[in-house]
Amino acid sequence: MTMIEKNLQIVRARVSDACRAAGRDRSEVALLAVSKTFDADAVVQACAAGQMAFGENYIQEAVQKISALRHLNLQWHCIGPVQSNKTRLVAEHFDWVHTVDRFKIAQRLSEQRPAHLPALQVCIQVNADAGATKSGLAPQEALALAQQVAGLPRIRLRGVMSIPEPAPDFAAACAVFAKVRAVFDQLKAAGLALDTLSMGMSADLEAAIQSGSTMVRVGTAIFGGRSRAA
Ligand SMILES: *Cc1c(COP(=O)(O)O)cnc(C)c1O
Repeated sequence: MTMIEKNLQIVRARVSDACRAAGRDRSEVALLAVSKTFDADAVVQACAAGQMAFGENYIQEAVQKISALRHLNLQWHCIGPVQSNKTRLVAEHFDWVHTVDRFKIAQRLSEQRPAHLPALQVCIQVNADAGATKSGLAPQEALALAQQVAGLPRIRLRGVMSIPEPAPDFAAACAVFAKVRAVFDQLKAAGLALDTLSMGMSADLEAAIQSGSTMVRVGTAIFGGRSRAA
């Protein structure tokens, strides 16, 4: 068994245990394997162990992997910041984008999404702990952006994403995740048909699942430590 396969088993068990602890069905939580900084071979190993959905932060690096691995029919999620000059690459190569926090970016993604591909699946990124240097919009701005994005023709709005700062303990992590969950619930209450709450990483996936996450994004616990900074 490869290290990646073994790690995937451990992470899947963590997700299952967290679902059980939260009284949730295991099928409610998807696992996204964050392969940023790791090469195509690592992705192939994870795929061989049954992992089909991958998250990438750096567009150029991701496009190389996506092109090299097209025959595997993997699902690719952009979870890094998207600048205007990168929207075309994202629209042409990814299945999902989790990091939309400006209408202008969503508009470009919709315009540039090739007609032969299905709509681009999108989450609105919310900055729930007011982390000073982070992207994502304030919770009170999410509804207005979500309503605009939902009207774009080549985009399908799926939900809300957040990357909180590491919290000191489980309760503190849950408190921040609850704010993201509240945004998700608010958008649904406003009539948007959303099914994805993207939150939780290697260190805090249990708290995220306890707080309602439907998609955890896990890198280090699957692929090991990154030598390059994220
Ligand atoms: C790197 C990254 C992850 C994975 O983080 P780990 O701590 O390695 O699990 C998840 N989400 C985003 C947005 C990331 O940039």
